Amino acid sequence: MDKRVRVRFAPSPTGPLNIGGLRTALYDYLFARKHGGDFILRIEDTDKNREVPGTEDYIMQALEWVGIRPDEYPGVGGDKEEKYGPYRQSERKDIYLKYALQLVDEGHAYYAFDSSEEIDAMRKEEEEKGNTGAKYNHATRDRMKNSLTLDPKQIEELKNKGENVVIRLKMPVGQEIKFTDIVRDSVSFQTSLLDDKVMIKADGMPTYHLANIVDDHLMEISHVIRGEEWLSSTAHHIYMYQCLGWVPPQFAHLSLLLKPVGKGKLSKRDSATFGFPVFPLNWFNEDGSLQFEGFKEYGFIPEALINFLAFLGWNPGTEQEIFSKEELIQAFSLDKVVKSGARFDIEKAKWFNQQYLIAMSNAEIAALISSDFSNVQQDTLEAFCGLMKERVDNLNEFASKGYFFFEKPKDWDQKTIRKKYKVENDIHFKAMAEALKNLNSFEQEEIQNVIKGYITEHELGFGNILAIYRIALTGTMKGPDIFATMELLGKEVSLIRLQDGLRLFKEFQKEENA
Ligand code: GLU
Repeated sequence: MDKRVRVRFAPSPTGPLNIGGLRTALYDYLFARKHGGDFILRIEDTDKNREVPGTEDYIMQALEWVGIRPDEYPGVGGDKEEKYGPYRQSERKDIYLKYALQLVDEGHAYYAFDSSEEIDAMRKEEEEKGNTGAKYNHATRDRMKNSLTLDPKQIEELKNKGENVVIRLKMPVGQEIKFTDIVRDSVSFQTSLLDDKVMIKADGMPTYHLANIVDDHLMEISHVIRGEEWLSSTAHHIYMYQCLGWVPPQFAHLSLLLKPVGKGKLSKRDSATFGFPVFPLNWFNEDGSLQFEGFKEYGFIPEALINFLAFLGWNPGTEQEIFSKEELIQAFSLDKVVKSGARFDIEKAKWFNQQYLIAMSNAEIAALISSDFSNVQQDTLEAFCGLMKERVDNLNEFASKGYFFFEKPKDWDQKTIRKKYKVENDIHFKAMAEALKNLNSFEQEEIQNVIKGYITEHELGFGNILAIYRIALTGTMKGPDIFATMELLGKEVSLIRLQDGLRLFKEFQKEENA
């Protein structure tokens, strides 16, 4: 690559950054790091009507949380900011007009003065002639109110009046715009089918199209990596580059993220439908209530999330699935980004998260969940993390699935009680309790020796006895090894829970038989 790699993530601040946007940012980041280049965050805030307060902060916090902080973004570009900034488009307003006027002077653009009613009327007229979806372009512009149809005096008057004054790109007729997209190979568009896009709006602000290409040029962006919804606009963009005599960047259009089941684009509503997050962080309504849950709050490890996201549309071509960020940087290449849409498989996301949890040390996990367990001593908490980490797939499940280590079970698995509890075994549980009470060290191995030894000696059958221990101590059959559980609960708690449990099970059986 001869030119310095500079990529930008260019969100519009119109709501929380979704998971698809985060994937785009991740690919930008990986590509920039791989090539020793720069990763820039540019805020495309030219449409003030659609702006949603808090979005920009949200984007920064999300990037920060997953550890892909941009090198240049509003307020931190340093020397580079002087050269390439500002990075918010609303602060660059004057720059764009100059280029739009240059295009007007050179005949590649023109002023238009039509109201939206007049444009609607034109469309309706065309529809009546059987031409649906008519565009403002070579086929219709000759009968509209613009600087190509009006005389200089009328034009001056309308410009001075200042109503509905826009500048439109004049798309040529009968040309083919061809370019090579890194993901999609050769792409081509017929200019005759394209509309004369507005470049400067009536409020004087540039549209996305103009601002985007001017900034990509001035910020010396080498590669534009973005969602496929922008592919068709790229024809306009390439044409503008041509008119301005600029070399366009290379393009890579990423496929959409698809719903976990069936067809269609993943949408924010899927979060409610399928019960999983599609945003990195919580997003709140204006009244402070939660609107969307985030992956962070759902209990994800950020490294696991980026590993999962990296694989949504890319794969290294090997069997390896677990990649640290450094490994992703080494392995990433746009050539291996796939053309087909990637299904958003939350089960796979959970699998990644679980793999990361298992690989983490107990102390690392303890640090992340300690606020849920403020009364628990550090060594107990770490041992707890060690016992539970293979049984959870997110951080919140430590508390929800392992709460019984710190408080009495809230309910008991009745099916198991029904199947395994036999009142005639009470006497054996009492005898084992006596033996356990006499243990000097209440450690997993000793506990196991006592219980297993007793079961063998009295030919009781492991299944029935151990299940009752489990249910009495934890309420569920789903916990970690029962002897390790007893060690962590401690002698006193284990024996009390056993006693209480047996009493309860007996009652339960009586009620069932009554
Ligand atoms: N502002 C556009 C967006 O919100 C940026 C598209 C691009 O990267 O060119 O996605």
